[in-house]
Formats: sequence, C-alpha cells, structure tokens
Amino acid sequence: MSGVLVIQEERGLGRNRISHEALAAGRILCGLTGLSLETAVVGDSNTPALAETSGQPPATAYAVEHPLLANYTSDGYVLALEQLIRKLQPSYIVFPHTYQVRDFVPRLAARFGQVLIGDVTAIEAGPLFVRQLFQGKMNAQYSHPGNGPCFVSVQAGAFPADPPVAGTTSILHFVPEIEDASIRTRPGQPFRASAQTVDLASAQLIVSVGRGIRDAENIPLVQELATVLGAELAASRPICDNGWLPMERQVGSSGQTVSPKLYLAVGISGAIQHLVGMKGSQCVVAINKDPAAPIFEVADYGIAGDLFEVVPALTEAVKAARQ
Ligand SMILES: Cc1cc2nc3c(=O)[nH]c(=O)nc-3n(C[C@H](O)[C@H](O)[C@H](O)COP(=O)(O)OP(=O)(O)OC[C@H]3O[C@@H](n4cnc5c(N)ncnc54)[C@H](O)[C@@H]3O)c2cc1C
Repeated sequence: MSGVLVIQEERGLGRNRISHEALAAGRILCGLTGLSLETAVVGDSNTPALAETSGQPPATAYAVEHPLLANYTSDGYVLALEQLIRKLQPSYIVFPHTYQVRDFVPRLAARFGQVLIGDVTAIEAGPLFVRQLFQGKMNAQYSHPGNGPCFVSVQAGAFPADPPVAGTTSILHFVPEIEDASIRTRPGQPFRASAQTVDLASAQLIVSVGRGIRDAENIPLVQELATVLGAELAASRPICDNGWLPMERQVGSSGQTVSPKLYLAVGISGAIQHLVGMKGSQCVVAINKDPAAPIFEVADYGIAGDLFEVVPALTEAVKAARQ
C-alpha cells in the first residue's frame, strides 16, 4: 500500500472544478495519514496533459490512455482503473462525486471487495469520512477497516479547491490492456443539457432570491443588487418552479451546489433542501423579515427586515462605495 490516488475527470477541454476539489480532499487525507499524493486522468492519447494541477502539485500524475477510453464507458473505466490500482496499490482512492463516478466506481470498488464511501463532505482525523444523512439533518462518520484500498468520492463544494498553478508534476503514461469485446456498451453522442449560460458552481459572489420576493415583477430589484455587486443571481426552488428564473439558477438538493465567497440570501427561509446546496459558502448574509427564519442559523451576518426596504438601500450603498 502506498499513497492517496486522486482520479480526476475530464470534461470537454479540461478537468472539471470538482476534480480540483477532489485533489484538495486528497491533500487533506495525505496530511492526516502522512501518505503521498498521486493523481490520474483516464482518456485516450488526446486527453489534455496533466500539466496543470491545483495548488501544490502532486509529484506524479498518470495519464491512463487507450483508444477504447476515448469515450466514457463503465466497462472501460473499471478495467483501466482496476489495472492501475493493482499496479500502484494506493491505500485511498479519491474521486469527485459526479454522475460518471456514481455509475462505475461502486463496481470498481466491488472488484477489490470494497464499497464506495460516497458524497463525503469532510475528512477528519482517523481518518474518518463524514457523510450527510436524511437530506443533511444528520452527519455520519465512516472509517475504513483497512483490509484493502478505500474508495471515497467527495461532494461538490465541500472541499474548496486551491487556485490552479502550473505543475512540476512528472507525467507517466499507463496503457491498460482492454479488448474491444470487453466493452459492452457503444456510447452515442454525449447528452447535452440545455446550454448553461451560468456557472453558479464557479461563481465567487451570489445573490440568491426566495419566495419573499412575492412576484416575478419584483425580481429586477434583486437583479440590480447582483449587478452592482458583480454577483450571479440565483434562487430557491419556488422561484424556478414558478418560472420566474431559469432552473439552472436553482440552488439546493435538486439544484446546483455552490461554494462562493459571499452568498447573500434574500427572502429565503433556509429549508434544509436549500441549505445543502449553499452550506459550503465562505460567508452567508441573510435578509429576512422573520427573525426566527432558519437561514439565520447558518448566516454569518443577518438583517432582520423587509427586503423591499433593505435591498434598495444596500444597492445604493454599494453604488456609493464603488464611486
Ligand atoms: C425533494 C425536495 C427537493 C427540494 N429541492 C430544493 C432545492 O433544490 N432548492 C430549494 O431552494 N428548495 C428545494 N425544495 C423546497 C424546500 O423544501 C423549500 O420549500 C424552499 O427552499 C423554500 O423556498 P423559499 O425559502 O424561497 O420560500 P419560503 O420557505 O416560503 O420562505 C420565504 C421567506 O421569505 C421571507 N419573507 C417574506 N416576505 C419578506 C420580505 N418582504 N422581506 C424579507 N423576507 C421576507 C419569509 O419570512 C420566509 O422566511 C425541495 C423540496 C423537496 C421536497
């Protein structure tokens, strides 16, 4: 058994942000265990080189390459990573908790007689892996008995990624043995969700609006505050369900997970399904006319007041400060 192996995921032209977050989680695990960090990306030889990692680069990165890995298939990825893991014998394998990972990693883990500890939100001394149960109402700690490699996936937004730096990582090429007959699925065109015009997951400043806004015609009030702050506009579910803002702007358990520097919640009560999507924010500011609203329990700063008075005043104050 050697170290901590982080498997990054390629999306289009580069690694997705949650892959950098998985590296940050891997780094925490190394700090707790004293193990070394390695990383790998699966693809064909056209996969962009692992020249850029996030934060302090790992010493070694593996480009797992094969023509049959050009497109994702569960069969191909399980075969390729099983061979890499048997070769490297890492103690821990960390993945971003993406749809792809949910698809193939439980099967990969089963090949080693293991399970996947999925959607981890924190790693504590032990190491203990923290998962949320009952929509975030309870936390559970999981430990690994140490009878083989430990497979972990990390929740989006739970481990803030360090800013990317150019790496001094040495890239090693690993070509697994895969036969065409082993791939039982033939991928078609990748599914494209409706074009996303906003990337809330990467936004540093978010102004989020809830049902307290009362009507679609009042949204511009909050939009103006977002604009003067240079923030993205987001919303709770009822706003998107009503069609007042597009679904891609919904934050929460059935929407996006965000982790901005500032999350300004306007007229949002703080239901658990909303909180699970924004609890990774560095600073939460809430405006709500009900001083007992649950959002104040997670807020760093709270304004108990009528948003129709507070938001215009805040907008003017930001404008004045910017002049
Ligand atoms: C399976 C499932 C999945 C869900 N997924 C999500 C999800 O992804 N995201 C999500 O957000 N929700 C989700 N929900 C819904 C969630 O349970 C809540 O119903 C929702 O988050 C409430 O939205 P809200 O806070 O905007 O509205 P409300 O709960 O109605 O709160 C409105 C708030 O505005 C305040 N307010 C009213 N007027 C003013 C005023 N003039 N000035 C200041 N404050 C005012 C009120 O005091 C209140 O606190 C989900 C529910 C289920 C069952």
